[in-house]
Amino acid sequence: MFAERIDFSHEANLTIDELVKRAEVLLPETDLNILRRCYEFAEKMHVSHKRSSGEAYIIHPLNVAATLIKLKMDLDSIMAGLLHDTVEDCDVSPEDISKMFGQSVAQIVVGCTKISKIKFKTKEESQAENFRKMVVAMAQDLRVIIVKLADRMHNMRTLQYVSKEKQMGKAQETLDIYVPLASRLGINSVKADLEDLCLRYLHPDIYYRLAEKIAMKRRERESYIEETLSLIEEKMLEYSVTGEVTGRPKHFYSIYKKMHQRGVDFEQIQDLLAFRILVSNITECYKVLGIIHSAFTPVPGRFKDYIAIPKVNNYQSLHTTVIGPKAERIEIQIRTFEMHEVAERGVAAHWKYKERNKSDPAENKLKWVEELMEFNQSASSSSEFMDAVKNDLDVGGVFIFTPTGDVKELRYGATPLDFAYAVHTEVGNKTVGAKVNGKMVPLKYRLKSGDTVEILTSKTQTPSKDWLKICKTSRAISKIKQHLMKIERDEHKVLGEDMLEKALKRFDTSIKSIEKKNEFRPILERLHFKTMEELFVNIGSTHLPIKDVLVSIPSVAFTETDELEIKEEEKDLDSYYKKVAKTARKSTSKDNAVIVDGLDDIVVKMGRCCNPIPGDPITGIITRGRGITVHTVGCVRIADMEKARQLQVEWNKNYNFAHPVNIKVTTHDKPGILSKISKSINNAGINIRSAIARSMPDQKGSFIFEIEVKDYSELLKTISSIEQMEEVISVSRA
Ligand code: MN
Repeated sequence: MFAERIDFSHEANLTIDELVKRAEVLLPETDLNILRRCYEFAEKMHVSHKRSSGEAYIIHPLNVAATLIKLKMDLDSIMAGLLHDTVEDCDVSPEDISKMFGQSVAQIVVGCTKISKIKFKTKEESQAENFRKMVVAMAQDLRVIIVKLADRMHNMRTLQYVSKEKQMGKAQETLDIYVPLASRLGINSVKADLEDLCLRYLHPDIYYRLAEKIAMKRRERESYIEETLSLIEEKMLEYSVTGEVTGRPKHFYSIYKKMHQRGVDFEQIQDLLAFRILVSNITECYKVLGIIHSAFTPVPGRFKDYIAIPKVNNYQSLHTTVIGPKAERIEIQIRTFEMHEVAERGVAAHWKYKERNKSDPAENKLKWVEELMEFNQSASSSSEFMDAVKNDLDVGGVFIFTPTGDVKELRYGATPLDFAYAVHTEVGNKTVGAKVNGKMVPLKYRLKSGDTVEILTSKTQTPSKDWLKICKTSRAISKIKQHLMKIERDEHKVLGEDMLEKALKRFDTSIKSIEKKNEFRPILERLHFKTMEELFVNIGSTHLPIKDVLVSIPSVAFTETDELEIKEEEKDLDSYYKKVAKTARKSTSKDNAVIVDGLDDIVVKMGRCCNPIPGDPITGIITRGRGITVHTVGCVRIADMEKARQLQVEWNKNYNFAHPVNIKVTTHDKPGILSKISKSINNAGINIRSAIARSMPDQKGSFIFEIEVKDYSELLKTISSIEQMEEVISVSRA
């Protein structure tokens, strides 16, 4: 009764006959001649290849296939294990594999090949996370990852034959990418094995010292384990519980992690031994826990109930640490045989279940697999099962390489332009073209996971309105809008300065000389403008009539005659408005949020003052030389504007763009409330552009969220979903 862990050691003498024999145990009543055909094909293809160890190459795929049998994977996976390097190394086409061995085997092999081509570069945690997600995203079939893990396991086991530098690189990559994947998929046997192998190459000094120390007291330890085992078995017998009890030293990496976490040396690590008790049902698990806790003193704070609350990877077990014989601390894990199966094989248990279920539906015992299968029966497709697991792994979008090998995560449907803005706003603004995997593509190209994107820029490029249609990420869209607004502001500034200069000329003076006399100050103060620039922009955008400025300047003697003359000049402007209004015809373009009676090439903008959204009653205001700005009918800005400049506009029902709108939320000041509200907004599929939070003295919180909604009803829905939270006092549009 010792070490029930799956043994993944390299088997130098493994043959196809032995492999088929093992497969027969796993897959009875299956014709396994196909495995021999895979083997013969792979051997022929790899005939000129050698492993770094000097062995014939075929020993590698054989060992990978053996690992997949140990994990109890299905026939397709085992076949793919034998064939996994043929496409990458032997010029075999995926079509060949598909013709000879079937579409699904070919897909797994292609997936493995794709992942081997990813150039991993993990200088920081977030990058590693992106790489992991990318592996999942690129493996359309989750079996690809399991075959890949088996491949990596064998490569790590034969790593002594490659250069030191390669050893370090592979080990680090394994620790960053494959160990967390194995862990997340719940394949703990593979995870523990890979961790120890990584430790051996990344920290050989620590690894060999641990190995030495553990070997030193081996006999002593083995007799201690024997003694403790029989003690536990005796106690269980007393209470007539039967089960399987095993004990062994913990794996090196978990000892290393403890030393590292607690900052202590090996000698100070007390609980080196782990015992495992497997019983047949949950009631017995808790019964055994009671037996253990009454026989040995439990260490306070070390009991964990992963049966009641399973880990996210579906691991279930009871863990406790007790003072064992001779006052040694020992860790004890108690679980059912089924839970153990899941703990060792994780998601791989799914395929095992599938295979067994064909002949014996009564073996329906693995609870979480059962749940997944239930889901699966209603959907009755394996791909939806994959999607469920992938969702669980939280793959949000596509993963794109920069030319330097960094990875960016973007949402599905993202284009090279989105990528450019994800790299840097200035890169986005200057984009003129893009190369994907070395080839020029249009800016609206849909990026796929694993694409390497190079952005071509030009100093003279500026963003255009059309880009808003290309971009899918809110970051890119808001950056483009910001830039377009700045351009508009700059134009208004120039225009306003020009208009003011012309008007002052009538009084034989200039902006410069008025500034010298400091005579702009009264009007700046009255309008709360901080700079002259602001004054120009407001004149240029016609928000501020020039007459208002002139009457406020003391040294300008503004008379009624002047007013009449100015009016005359403004008639020219009126005729422009009339021209716009007269040549009116319905624009059917889907590109604008509103349909305007106006010129075809008219520029339509949303008023920043009132942020109209579809559903609001709106009106259009003709702006000097810049087209039309849309305001809500109630907007204060339009109250004193001339009727001549107003224009009928209506919302375009075919238009689907998100509109920014501010909402104000008042809450009781509770910790975490901001994230709670944000989550509720995000869950409704609404994008948040920004959030400002303020704590108020009366124990209330106040937040302004700038969100993007399609229309008025979406806004109302969002508001009412926030209102329903008990911490929320009020919600309104701001
Ligand atoms: Mn391989």
